[in-house]
Amino acid sequence: NVSTADFQRLDAAHHLHPFTDTRQLNAEKSRVMSKAHGVWLWDTDGNRYLDGMAGLWCTQIGHGRREVADAVHAQMMELEYSNTFFKTTHPPAARLSEVVAEVTPDGLNHVFFTNSGSEANDTVFRMVRYYWQLQDKPAKQIIIGRKYGYHGSTVAASALGGMDGMHKQAGMVPGVHHITPPHWFDFGGDMSREDFGVWAAKELERAIDELGEENVAAFIAEPIMGAGGVLIPPDSYWPEISRICSEREILLVVDEVICGFGRTGKWFGSDTYGLKPDLMPIAKGLSSGYLPIGGVMVADRVADVLIDKGGEFYHGYTYSGHPAACAAALENLRIMREERVVEHCAEEAAPYLQEKWRSFADHPLVGEARMVGLFGALELVPAKPGRTERFDPVGAVGTIARDFSFANGLIMRAVRDALVISPPLVITREEIDQLAKLVEKTLDDTLAELRK
Ligand code: PLP
Repeated sequence: NVSTADFQRLDAAHHLHPFTDTRQLNAEKSRVMSKAHGVWLWDTDGNRYLDGMAGLWCTQIGHGRREVADAVHAQMMELEYSNTFFKTTHPPAARLSEVVAEVTPDGLNHVFFTNSGSEANDTVFRMVRYYWQLQDKPAKQIIIGRKYGYHGSTVAASALGGMDGMHKQAGMVPGVHHITPPHWFDFGGDMSREDFGVWAAKELERAIDELGEENVAAFIAEPIMGAGGVLIPPDSYWPEISRICSEREILLVVDEVICGFGRTGKWFGSDTYGLKPDLMPIAKGLSSGYLPIGGVMVADRVADVLIDKGGEFYHGYTYSGHPAACAAALENLRIMREERVVEHCAEEAAPYLQEKWRSFADHPLVGEARMVGLFGALELVPAKPGRTERFDPVGAVGTIARDFSFANGLIMRAVRDALVISPPLVITREEIDQLAKLVEKTLDDTLAELRK
């Protein structure tokens, strides 16, 4: 008979939460989530929430699918653990490596397994440098990322990301450089969206000139920046980036940890934008979050060098390709393929939600309503038309709106003053109707609070 208050007390006494202001948490108490099904979550007090964030952008197939639990159970009864180091493998790792090669874009036929997106990006950091050491010329070292980029919380991954707060708290890793993100709303100035897209891409070229082409090893970017605020690039951005990477011979690392597995309405953000990644970190939707697993997809042209010239890559995790996590991923991908989850997102759910989403641009608080696939944001502004004025301090109103959303029974996240959304891909029209009503109420509540 443990009550909600007991869990909150234990939590406050012992649990240091990720990305949480603990003083604030202890003052307000944590919500204790205890049950989930489909797009819904319940807390220990019986309150129901529509999971507008698919967990942390990961629960593509929705919560509570028994088949995944059964597959994990069966795997654990057969072989709960065995490693993939040295010359060992096991059936779920071998099978999953084939399935991920099938669903990812052409030419990415090798995978290095990790437990998370952060570890995938740490693997990228080391693999990029190792790759260039294997060439017959001095090794390139520098990796270019973007301001507001998020690639994880480990030391190398947080350095590749462009979150100032993370750099300030833990310091920076040498050999990483950041450029402006393709976020027209904040950085576009007087330029048209498409002109700005080209300008932002050319910043990569300017950085390569400044740092020296012989020093720049790779460029890393999310197809659409997620944790940075669902920043959707102008259509002109990616073709220009692809041109620069190939002309300047730098590896293109496309971080698909959020965009992968259907989020943008195709299997990968790379499919949506026509990208040909050299390395492609994946995680989250790979298992729909049922168990932790990630990986780095490696293009054949890179894998050939690593395999033919490389010898041993001194890198790996005890749980790389963990049997139970692989079983969860395999069952998740079986469900996604057989139930046509990506097609449902692209043909049913995304068009229906996008139409409603765009109508929020008429609300007095919304400066921009953007969405690709089921991946969107509402940019909240103090005055219309919106691009020139910002709330002061930045982020305060986003937090108020996020808290109203929670209180109304919809989980959304705030990034600065943008409300972001990324529901499970299996969401139905009826659930989208409910979601849209809750968003509308959240905007109205926030506006009323600001006018008080
Ligand atoms: N890369 C991207 C694009 C992400 O959004 C995230 C997490 O949100 C990560 C990497 C890190 O993944 P994880 O939290 O599994 O370490």
